[in-house]
Amino acid sequence: MTVTRFAPSPTGFLHVGNLRTALFNHLIARKAGGTFILRLDDTDPERSKDEYADAIQEDLEWLGLTWDRIERQSLRLDRYAEAADRLRDMGRFYEAFETPTELDLKRKKQLNMGLPPVYDRAALALSEEETARLRAERGPGVWRFKLDQERIEWEDGILGALSIDAGSVSDPVLIRADGQVLYTLASVVDDVDMGITHVVRGSDHVTNTATQIQIMAALGHGHPAFAHHSLLTGPQGEALSKRLGTLSLRDLRAAGVEPMALLSHMARIGSSQPVEIAGSLDEIADGFDLSHFGSAPTKFDEADLWPLTARVLHETSFEEVAGEIAALGVPDALARDFWEVARANIGTRADIPGWWALFRDGAAPVVAPEDRDFVAGAFAMLPDPPYDGETWGNWTTAVKEATGRKGKALFMPLRKAVTGLEKGPEMADVMRLLQKKPTL
Ligand code: GLU
Repeated sequence: MTVTRFAPSPTGFLHVGNLRTALFNHLIARKAGGTFILRLDDTDPERSKDEYADAIQEDLEWLGLTWDRIERQSLRLDRYAEAADRLRDMGRFYEAFETPTELDLKRKKQLNMGLPPVYDRAALALSEEETARLRAERGPGVWRFKLDQERIEWEDGILGALSIDAGSVSDPVLIRADGQVLYTLASVVDDVDMGITHVVRGSDHVTNTATQIQIMAALGHGHPAFAHHSLLTGPQGEALSKRLGTLSLRDLRAAGVEPMALLSHMARIGSSQPVEIAGSLDEIADGFDLSHFGSAPTKFDEADLWPLTARVLHETSFEEVAGEIAALGVPDALARDFWEVARANIGTRADIPGWWALFRDGAAPVVAPEDRDFVAGAFAMLPDPPYDGETWGNWTTAVKEATGRKGKALFMPLRKAVTGLEKGPEMADVMRLLQKKPTL
């Protein structure tokens, strides 16, 4: 049974970088008919906000990335405390009292001597009396996990065979001095308890994975399959971290990005497969395979989402938008016809009302001074609505006979006068949908 999880901290809105992680984990579970868990990593009570937890769920629902189960770390603190006790009993957990300034000084010294800035484990050598004295002087210390000094190896689903020398990593702090359980411990306990089989996350977590594998082993468990996807960069390869705030899923939604455009894009960028618009998440899941992804940073350009959004809309059936169109006040008898014409001419859904307004009320005519008389004469030859599919052909034939104009000189001034635009739907379609006789 495949079980995956997406584990955001509810300390902000989801952005495109998070989406990649959420999507990959969702797709793996979906493809295997497994379980996808949404896990809120909310052990930090100061930074975690209900508002963000709600927004995360709303954003995932917008995209159809629904979860089979939701878990909150803040409700599982007992489990983390139990695990901490076990590690303590095993002698794998030790209290350390250095202040951040002291640790910083140690790191600087090590770097000056050309040594890796790894915690020197001074606290391991403390006698019981020294520990008691420090605790009395400084209050409770942090709790560090004592890593076994060995090479930690795993086969990464994207990066291939990886190994990290535990000696090059500081013993991780799992519990803060104020008692707050940190992500590394909580995540390990959850992954084990929830039977997670696959963990896909950003490559910024590779070192965490090494220590998590050891903690899982210390608690008597094997580890899930790990895969680390590359991080997103901007179109020029620049770091995206500072801009991610402006690439939140809610902003993209508000700007009119279509879910299927975003999902199709995110499922393919950074892989050997071209971006193709998918019809559904199941279709994306069918073709999804982590082995198609590489380790190089993945370029993301928001601008790519607009042509994809337009293409998704061009293929969107009337049934999918019927409610939205009815809400605009389009009469039932015209609604389907209206959508078939409008959808090829919109960039986002926000463009739909404009087309209906044009058909309902007409446009402000655009007429060059030299075409004024021509257009006035042509409008005089146009009967009152209702119009049909023949109206444009009949009208322009009559205007052509009366004026001798033909081709572009005949059609373009009339298009601009009727629609106010140089481009748009076939004029036969425009006239058929037009509810008012155009006037100058
Ligand atoms: N809360 C962690 C994060 O957002 C989860 C990482 C993980 O998937 O283990 O980075």
